[in-house]
Parts: sequence; C-alpha cells; structure tokens
Amino acid sequence: MDNTSLWNSVLAEAELSLSSAQFVTWFKDTHIISNQNGTVVIGVPNGFAKEWLENKFNKIILNSLRNFQSDIKEIKCVINGNIKEKSASVTKTIDGVKNNSYFKTNSAPVHFQATYSGNTLLNPKNNLNPRYTFENFIVGENNELARAACYAVSQKPGMVYNPLFIYGGVGLGKTHLLQSIGNEVLRKNPEKVVKYISSEAFTTDLIDSIKNGTIDKFKEHYKKTDLLIIDDIQFISGKEKTQTEFFHIFNALYQINKQVVLSSDRPPKEISILEERLRSRFEGGMIADVSNPDMETRVAILKQKATEKNFSIKKEHLRFLAENFNKNVRELEGALNKLIAYSQLNQRELSLNDIKEILLDLLQQNNSLNLTRQKIIKTVADFYEIQEKDLFNKNRKKKVAFCRQMAMFLIRYHLKLSFPEIGDFLGGRDHTTVMYACKKISSAIYEKKEIESEFKQLNKKLNV
Ligand code: ADP
Ligand code: MG
Repeated sequence: MDNTSLWNSVLAEAELSLSSAQFVTWFKDTHIISNQNGTVVIGVPNGFAKEWLENKFNKIILNSLRNFQSDIKEIKCVINGNIKEKSASVTKTIDGVKNNSYFKTNSAPVHFQATYSGNTLLNPKNNLNPRYTFENFIVGENNELARAACYAVSQKPGMVYNPLFIYGGVGLGKTHLLQSIGNEVLRKNPEKVVKYISSEAFTTDLIDSIKNGTIDKFKEHYKKTDLLIIDDIQFISGKEKTQTEFFHIFNALYQINKQVVLSSDRPPKEISILEERLRSRFEGGMIADVSNPDMETRVAILKQKATEKNFSIKKEHLRFLAENFNKNVRELEGALNKLIAYSQLNQRELSLNDIKEILLDLLQQNNSLNLTRQKIIKTVADFYEIQEKDLFNKNRKKKVAFCRQMAMFLIRYHLKLSFPEIGDFLGGRDHTTVMYACKKISSAIYEKKEIESEFKQLNKKLNV
C-alpha cells in the first residue's frame, strides 16, 4: 500500500474516534513523508500539531497504522513550513487517492474532501460546505419539523421565522440543516450575503477584534449579512462580552428583517448562564428539535450515504448497521465509512462476519454507551447475590464493601464518570473513597485470578 492510501486509512479511523473539530484541528494538512524500517515520518503544519500527534494521538495513530502494516514501530512528526506547499499536499493527497488503484470508486475521496473542506472545498467567504443540501437530507419523524422550518426560512429568509432555533443531541443533523439553508439561499440568490459560523469561532473572532482594536469592523462585517447562521450557540453560555455583542448584532439584523438561524444541543431555556434578554429573543422566533431517527429513517440515511459514495452494500448489512448504531447519525455514517475504506483496500465484498470484526471497536463503544449506572448496580447485586440498596447505604460488611468497590470500578471503567460523580451516585461517598476502590479493584484484577474471572463474567453480563 502506498503512503497516501495508508495515511488516508489512518485518517478515516481517526475521524471516527475524534470530534470533527478535533479531527480538523489536528489532522488537517498532514501526510506521510516516509515509511521505512518501522518508522513512519508524518509531515505536520506546525509545532502544535506535532506535539499533539506525537503525544496524545500517538497510540491511536500507531494502532491504526499497524492494522494495515503490522511492522510499524513508531511515528515521528516533522514540521514542514511553507503554507503553499502544505495546501498543495492536501490537494495532492486527494487527487492521489482518486487515482489510486486501491480505491475503485471515488467514495473515500469524497469523504476526505468533505472532511478537508476546512481548507479545500469550504467557501472561505461564508464557510459553507456544498456537501450539505436539502436534497441529500433524509426526512423522518425525528426531524420533519426542523427540516420544514429550515426549508421555509431558506425560501423566504427574514420573513417567516426569525430567529430560527434548531436544537438536538450530537450527530443528529443540525449542522447539515443549517448549512443547507445557506446553500439554498445562495443557490436561489447568489448575491445574498450569507455567513455560517460556529459560536466558538464567533467568540474567537470577537476576542481577536477586541485585542486588535477592530471591533467596529467586526460588527460592521456581521451587520452586513442577509443570513447569519451560528452553530452550537450553547458555547456562548457564560461568556458575557460575547453575548452582549451578539445581542447587538442580532437586534441590528432583526430590525431590518435579516434572517438569523441558530443551533444548540439543548433548548434555549436549558442553556445556563444565558442572558435573559437573549433567551427571550431566541424563544421569540421558531424553535424546532431534531431527535434520534427511527430504524426506517436510519436505513434510508445509510442508503443515501452509500449511494453518494458509490458504494454498493447488501440490504441486510445496512440493517445490521442501522440496528447497532441507533443513537447518532454521525456514528452510523462513521461505521459505513469504515466499511467502505476496508472493502476498497481489500478490493472485495465484505461478509457479515467481516463487518462485525471491522466494527468491533465501534460496536463495543456503542454498547457501553447503552450501559447505564443503574444497569451496573443491578448486575453487580445479582451476580454477588446481595441487595441493590446495600450498595448505596452504609452497610460495612466485608462482602458488601467489596461489591460496592467493584461497582465503582465498573462505572469508572465503562462509563468514565468522574470520581466525585461516582461517589455522589453511590450514597454520597467521598471521591477519595472511589479513587481508592478503583485502584484496589484494578490491582486485584491484575493479581488475583478469581477476581479477574469475576470481572470478565460481569462484563459478559453487561454485554461489553
Ligand atoms: P449535528 O450538527 O447535529 O451534530 P451533523 O449535521 O454534523 O450533526 O450530522 C452528522 C452527520 O450525519 C453528517 O454527515 C450529516 O450529513 C449526517 N446526517 C444527519 N442526519 C441526516 C439526515 N437526516 N439525512 C442525511 N444525513 C444526515
Ligand atoms: Mg453540528
């Protein structure tokens, strides 16, 4: 496998395990410079990326490189300075993939282009990604209202619902819908001024403009938009200065019937430390939510994504994915992308068993998401034949204390809750008690065969 395909496979995996912001921040403009004697040298754009890739992401990168080439032992990052060369290398990578024999169709490149739209396809003037349109958005009961509201706004910006506020959990299509509005408005009316921005980027821009003394320019810039879209507005919670400036910009636009569209992971009333006047503004327009898609919608979304990527996949395999990734469309899509990458690297159709194996990590992760604290408590109590309530109360019997420690450990291990959270949950115990318990059980699993076996049996009962 050549360096380009190898690195693209690593990127495909990294993208699945990171948030898209993280992924773009750390992995954009990276490529493999050389791959010799077990050392892979990665070219990165700056010292920041070098430090993160070599330290924090070392394991992820190394593991995924080894999936494709088992003799790789280490990675090294070098900074390659020139910006022009850097962006050229991304373009080259993408073209390289397109022409590469491993990739029969253009599906993986499409995926990477979309990911890299941050520096290649994304329109710098308005931050819109042409990949997100109403045409390729699948409508289900979970998003019908939000989709209809977004579409109406795109047809008559500033005239129907203002502001439009879309909320819902991660990976359920909010950004897709917001971007579709921007793309549709420009399609119908190319001279309109559209601006899409995340609230984090908005805040950063604002802070920079204060530092550089260009705040007036900043405000003017935003006040000139016909359609202002701010994604993930919950992040301005607690940021007073940002809220104040946003309030003024919002009012200025609103008064001259310019459209504002916002998204958030929760409804306005649940965004804590939001200025009251902003909250009532948000609530004064139209609010619509997106929720989890049902089975039928998930299958339809998968079909749509597979078609976009020119990938043919059996109906029963689609159903398998849709059944197992049922919380979040991004994860569902991530699973499909992983299959596409594998099937193209190996140039063959995948069986259901292949699929299970390829997606093992993701399936396990997903299962642990379905796991709850309550389920762990019940499983531990059943397994050791004690009463659930004893895990929460002050019962100090040796056996009960041990079971409680095991429960603490399992909650920490699988659900990654903080020590204080676990302490609170288990009858208001101190976080140091939880830390001690976790340490004790983890060394016991390591040192004592019977505890190790109990741990394994418990995991089996928890389906993880
Ligand atoms: P959010 O902003 O809510 O976290 P995104 O809009 O980023 O979610 O969606 C995650 C991925 O899922 C995107 O690739 C998006 O295209 C896809 N997606 C979500 N819902 C749908 C849908 N109904 N139809 C098609 N694709 C969808
Ligand atoms: Mg989003």
